[in-house]
Amino acid sequence: MLAIIFESALFVAFLAALGALVVSLLQSSPLGTRLTQIQNRRRLEREVAASCPVHGPHDERDLVRLPGGATLCPECYQETLDGRFL
Ligand SMILES: [Zn+2]
Repeated sequence: MLAIIFESALFVAFLAALGALVVSLLQSSPLGTRLTQIQNRRRLEREVAASCPVHGPHDERDLVRLPGGATLCPECYQETLDGRFL
């Protein structure tokens, strides 16, 4: 019984080591570099889309979505509704 438990633990450790090796090789390959660049570009595009040139960065949940799909910061939306333009 003890041998079966020990063998199972070794098998799970082998699978974990194999998974770590695959992830390590993938991250150091050109494909991993490309995936990291894609993630960084998407993060930067989200940050740029969520920041207003006048009022600064906002949380994505605070932005007002217009019927056309574009987003607007809440301060600019309120100023537009009040008739105050820049
Ligand atoms: Zn704004």
